[in-house]
Amino acid sequence: MKKLFFFTLSLFLFSTFSVFSQEKNPVIENIQKEAYENSQLEILGHELLDDIGPRLVGTPQMQQAHDWAVAKYKSWGISAENQQWGEWKGWERGVTHIDMVYPRIQTLDGTQLAWNPGTSSKGVTAELIVLPEIKDSISFKKWLPNVKGKFVMVAMKQPTGRPDENWKEFATPESFEKMKTEREEQTKAWDENIKRSGYDRRSIIPALEKAGAIGIVDSYWSKGFGVNKIFGARTKKIPSVDIELEDYTMLYRMVEHGDKPKIHVVAESKDLGRVPTFNTIAEIKGTEKPDEYVILSAHFDSWDGGTGATDNGTGTLVMMEAMRILKKVYPNPKRTILVGHWGSEEQGLNGSSSFVADHPEIVSNIQAVFNQDNGTGRVTSINGAGFLQSYDYMSRWLRAVPDTIRKNIETTFPGWPARGGSDNASFVAAGAPAFSLSSLSWNYWNYTWHTNRDTYDKIVFDDVRSNVILTAILAYMASEDDSKTSREQVILPIDDKTGDRQTWPTPRVPERKGGM
Ligand SMILES: [Zn+2]
Repeated sequence: MKKLFFFTLSLFLFSTFSVFSQEKNPVIENIQKEAYENSQLEILGHELLDDIGPRLVGTPQMQQAHDWAVAKYKSWGISAENQQWGEWKGWERGVTHIDMVYPRIQTLDGTQLAWNPGTSSKGVTAELIVLPEIKDSISFKKWLPNVKGKFVMVAMKQPTGRPDENWKEFATPESFEKMKTEREEQTKAWDENIKRSGYDRRSIIPALEKAGAIGIVDSYWSKGFGVNKIFGARTKKIPSVDIELEDYTMLYRMVEHGDKPKIHVVAESKDLGRVPTFNTIAEIKGTEKPDEYVILSAHFDSWDGGTGATDNGTGTLVMMEAMRILKKVYPNPKRTILVGHWGSEEQGLNGSSSFVADHPEIVSNIQAVFNQDNGTGRVTSINGAGFLQSYDYMSRWLRAVPDTIRKNIETTFPGWPARGGSDNASFVAAGAPAFSLSSLSWNYWNYTWHTNRDTYDKIVFDDVRSNVILTAILAYMASEDDSKTSREQVILPIDDKTGDRQTWPTPRVPERKGGM
């Protein structure tokens, strides 16, 4: 996150305002009672993450998830629909199976990268090759024919598969420092070596494909035990797989040692042409001010190395469960409470920015947006997103939240406008008060974010439940508020680099025909 040097008022909301929450407000009491005594989080999580699975844009699973959400809302008496905003390359993941078959047999941990065309069910078998020491682009061109018929290993051989915390705990300080220095030098040398080929880490892959490689073997280590980040393939016809650090570095050492290891890769997947992409929108209509909106927001899509449990399964569960509870205990809200489960956030906030572009009448009448998208942890920070008066209304709403939940939350006002990161940014750019309910990490960045380990078992349900209560109460308070929220913006500071005053972010143009 960018550091901005201008006046911010930071405070912990201690129990000074406990009087309010102690006065029994039946809606607030019932929100908690329903959340604790009749929680649907575990079953919703199971159905979404275990049964449907990851929700990569353009896949049948994404569509299943949209249909599942609409059916869930309808079963709770909430009107819901899928709104198309664009189309994407349709693709379905199949079996990935990677084995070392020479000089001995070992099944390897790895997976095909997204949108990669499949192999036949028989798969392909070939020897591995690593990149050479490159002098310049001419010598690289001369070397290129060597990749013909081989799997090319394109990631650096990491010197250790232990996370830094583990080194810090057990290594002597000297050897920890030595490892870090050596790794830094090795990484720099690796990048410079590739640069001398005339390509970079990304553009070298199509060049290898063109030169006749039979497949690409990558390994994007996420700096923890057993975790790799899994994104999209950069090849057009040949298989691209990611193999976990443990197995990848073993293969690399074997190549270096002259063992000539061979792997067998089955990576089945289906190209499904062009498919429509959606946002799932549900709402509980307002009674007094139906044209003003409180929006609950969480992206619905995920990457597909794991099942997208914390990115953004948990944000999704929070918003669904909050809606279910609100419908039950607050069925006639003053303002309309709308929930947006956005598509294709991961490729650039495409679903939410399409919604903002397509619904100016809603966006100009937003009371508040509450977005959650950084993992399973309990919310620990909320910033005013650069709205000058946010201190006034947000603090007022937070006062209604029970101490046990509120005491963990640090607020920063007026804060700064989000320029990306998640869907709240799409609304902020259009001038609407949109806030990120920001979570405690639970090792999010290394262990679950976009990794092969983003799975149900990482969910901390007590924290998620606490976020449900927080979200439902904020939605209730924002809906009931006597006044419409102010959109007055802070004057942004001077940019140190350019010397010009920073400007408010502008709405991004969504990608509505992706991956084609
Ligand atoms: Zn996310």
